[in-house]
Amino acid sequence: MNCGSQQQRENRFWELLNQFFPNAESIGSYIGGEWFIGDGSDIELYNADNGALFYSYRDASPEIIPKLNEVTKVAEAQWRAMTAADRGRLIFQVGAKIRAVSAELTELESLVGNKPIRDARGEVAKVAEMFEYYAGWSDKLHGEVIPVPTTHLNYVVYEPLGTVLQITPWNAPIFTAGWQIAPAITAGNGVILKPSELTPVTSLVLAKLIEEVGIPKGLVNVVAGYGHTIGQMMIQRCHIDKVVFVGSPNTGEQIAVAAARKGIPAILELGGKSANIVFADADYEKALRGAQNAIFGSAGQSCVSGSRLLVERIIFDQFVNDLAATTAQFQVGNPLDEATQIGPIQNQKQYTHVCKMIEQALGEGAKIPNNNVESIPSAAGYYIYPTVLVGNNQMQCAQEEIFGPVVVAIPFDTEEEAIAIANESTFGLAGAVWCRDVAKAHRVADKVRAGTFWINGYKTIHVSSPFGGYGRSGYGRSSGLEALRAYSQVKSIWVERAAEPLVNFGYGSQEK
Ligand code: NAD
Repeated sequence: MNCGSQQQRENRFWELLNQFFPNAESIGSYIGGEWFIGDGSDIELYNADNGALFYSYRDASPEIIPKLNEVTKVAEAQWRAMTAADRGRLIFQVGAKIRAVSAELTELESLVGNKPIRDARGEVAKVAEMFEYYAGWSDKLHGEVIPVPTTHLNYVVYEPLGTVLQITPWNAPIFTAGWQIAPAITAGNGVILKPSELTPVTSLVLAKLIEEVGIPKGLVNVVAGYGHTIGQMMIQRCHIDKVVFVGSPNTGEQIAVAAARKGIPAILELGGKSANIVFADADYEKALRGAQNAIFGSAGQSCVSGSRLLVERIIFDQFVNDLAATTAQFQVGNPLDEATQIGPIQNQKQYTHVCKMIEQALGEGAKIPNNNVESIPSAAGYYIYPTVLVGNNQMQCAQEEIFGPVVVAIPFDTEEEAIAIANESTFGLAGAVWCRDVAKAHRVADKVRAGTFWINGYKTIHVSSPFGGYGRSGYGRSSGLEALRAYSQVKSIWVERAAEPLVNFGYGSQEK
């Protein structure tokens, strides 16, 4: 496929952006239905296929903060004045809107986000599904009656928190935006979303589509800018009630500190170093294919990547050699090419990090099998070879997140040892086991400390199933009913029903 010249890409970008924002002359922030161009320092976006500057825009101005505070409160009042059924109908229509423009959204995500167009298409479809799923919950978020042992009627109601600030990364921009916006507004909240400065465009379009179905302007606002500038300022100065952060552990720590200083809660969805465990009795071909998908899909730029491959020693050499040989099969190339399975690393900083981690791993004694084929289409751009490293769990490459197409293969001898290695990690986001022995598979699933675990599979996630991490992978849960609870405040209401009620003196004693 001809993926176009630099100029053609730029023209196409403007054509697509102006389809949604006809008067936009630069990337900006979308607040209360208005477009705000920043006046801060330049933010440069690069074409990862050839490393050329693609576009640059200005960081958001702090002057937007009072506007954010104003529009969210007005919109939240309008939103909560509607019936839950009406809100659900509108949320469902967001799904239909996304489906109607899925081709344009897919192209934008690939063009600006440096994401293979096949991956982008799947992720856009998932976003439609997220709004459709949560729409159904809208009028079913009822409270509960607690059978207290007193004369009272005690009931619990779930209220919106207020305004939530969501901060998201660059690896799956519209997917992550939909993942957090859909439950937040279903639970009745207003949203300020700050996508990665590297990938703000599809989140901006999503906010526009949400407004177009009749959801009040200002309920979902998107701020395009840096995290350390406008992101931090919004935590401090916006009237927000919770921060939901999806990103790296180091930034997550700073977010948690800033939220704690303000006295508001945070959810952290952070990185991982997930163990993909293969026993000798596994269906060999399926496990091999599973191991490929687990790490090389999205060029390893996925939080749940199976980046530690634990293989039972009696099949270790064969399995690792076969995995390394498959690196030649992948279509690596331009993200806009329909045939591409593995695209480049999204940005230069990440590219440099992945290269450095491979170099350090080799310095620590990790080995690359001879048949690990370098399958890169050109020397230009931020391409990294799908790489298999043979090492041990103490190496830095097995302990730190690489977030690239690099897997560390580690042998084990027993079930106990596999579990121990899997758990010898500060992370706990995901994991998997491949084996035919059902009882063993369940024992391993039970003992590995991870928020998501697959048996004879990898990477399946769905909006209806809770998602989140243990340890340094974060805290709190997204997706499913858990996300709605995370975006709600719980209130317990006590109604006295006794004809001559006693007065409480302290928690226990009651007096006339
Ligand atoms: P990052 O932490 O560098 O940035 C994430 C977001 O935080 C961006 O919007 C950025 O602008 C903002 N930010 C940066 N510094 C900030 C600060 N001081 N204050 C406020 N905001 C700030 O992460 P990244 O490189 O964009 O993304 C990759 C990471 O995201 C990986 O670690 C990956 O595992 C993780 N991730 C986790 C999940 C999950 O669900 N657990 C999903 C996707 C990605």
